[in-house]
Amino acid sequence: MPSSQTNRRTFLKQGLLGACAVGGLGAAYASYPKLKQRFFGQNQPNIILITLDTTRADHLGCYGYERPTSPNIDQLAAESLVYERAIASATWTLPSHASLFTGKFTASHGACKVVDGPLDLTIPLYGPKAINHYRARSIAENETTLAMLLSDAGYQTMGVVAGPWLKHVFGLNKGFEFYDDDNIETVNARLGEEVTDRALQMLRTPSAQPRFLFLNYFDPHSPYCAPPEFSHEFVTDYDLPADVRDDPAAIQKMIGLYDGEIRYMDYHLGRLFEGLKQYGMYDDAWIFITADHGELMGENGAFGHGGEVYQGVVHVPMIVKAPRGQQAPGRDDRWIQLVDVFPQILDVAGVAIPEGIQGQLPEEIDHPIVIESRTLPDINTGGDWFSIIDEGWKYVWSSEGNHKFFNLNEDPGEENNLFTQLHDQARLMDDSMHEYLASLPLPGPQAPATIDKKMQATLKSLGYIR
Ligand SMILES: [Zn+2]
Repeated sequence: MPSSQTNRRTFLKQGLLGACAVGGLGAAYASYPKLKQRFFGQNQPNIILITLDTTRADHLGCYGYERPTSPNIDQLAAESLVYERAIASATWTLPSHASLFTGKFTASHGACKVVDGPLDLTIPLYGPKAINHYRARSIAENETTLAMLLSDAGYQTMGVVAGPWLKHVFGLNKGFEFYDDDNIETVNARLGEEVTDRALQMLRTPSAQPRFLFLNYFDPHSPYCAPPEFSHEFVTDYDLPADVRDDPAAIQKMIGLYDGEIRYMDYHLGRLFEGLKQYGMYDDAWIFITADHGELMGENGAFGHGGEVYQGVVHVPMIVKAPRGQQAPGRDDRWIQLVDVFPQILDVAGVAIPEGIQGQLPEEIDHPIVIESRTLPDINTGGDWFSIIDEGWKYVWSSEGNHKFFNLNEDPGEENNLFTQLHDQARLMDDSMHEYLASLPLPGPQAPATIDKKMQATLKSLGYIR
């Protein structure tokens, strides 16, 4: 559990942030399911967790985006609780999903890039040898995952994924009874259409058990190449130069193509929601929609994800649809993170939340809002970036010494670095962040990598392994 010395309440006691507090919290907390009856084994709801890989909150209509990228997500959001300040725990796929599945930050679950990590991206992805720089380790072997706990509680646990880092070889399948990651051999190998088709196929067979279904849609991840019918409202010229830096017109074109990918994904989410309705599964299900991280589109010269921690990459959607009548729709402006989804899902399933995790139920959150961007020198030359956000103040620690300090309330674009000007305040946040991360239990030994025979044969034929 968080150190009592470093949680947010302590921050407030220190008087650091009292003067900077934003307005009151939003409405619609009262009916949160913590108060619901817990009849273990009876009336367990179906639960669907959807990650929109690489999707910035501010490019969805329900988060105020002016382009029509997300009509189906917006429709679901209108009947849901929408968290306006959800923050990713990490900046790329593997550690963020591991936080969703363990309720822990990267420092504690262990799944992240490691220079000498035994897992590399060439295991599931047949690409240029350069990608073997992407070395990582998986979730610690002794971690109990969300799917394991739900399975123990009687749930049928099923996953359909599209991103290469979600292949079972990296360990995120731990606890799933069915986990569909077949034939994902390139970055864009499995499109949203196939994720929805396979999910509906899985659900078509009736089950006496309640179901936990995890879906990962990967379309907004680069390369941005949605079919033109989904992009044409946002862009008319589909050719991007190899390097868009210092070319504002090309950046705008890139943003249009990215928006087209979101629109494509949203169309197939609409098909999913329609299918759930046809199967009679929509009204009574809990549906959690979030993203593992966003995507930088040139803010302060930064692009993509996995490195710097500007808001475009850490501010993610978090939308929670309850079974009909169990939760008033609304907006919630408390700060919340991916680690906090794990206890929420256990709570709605009526499953006890284990000790020793860092995630908390929304109304109880007092862990600091922390982001860990652990990078690899071959890929991210800017070094590691860690950040802590408190009541709109954002401190960014850089392993290269390029620390930053922003007032998000007055400077949402993070253009005015106050680190020198407000050095003492920034240092206090630095201390709290490092104290908190140091207080977390270290991950246990990592799980061994598993390569099946078919993959082994293909890797041999390509010369990746002997
Ligand atoms: Zn991702």
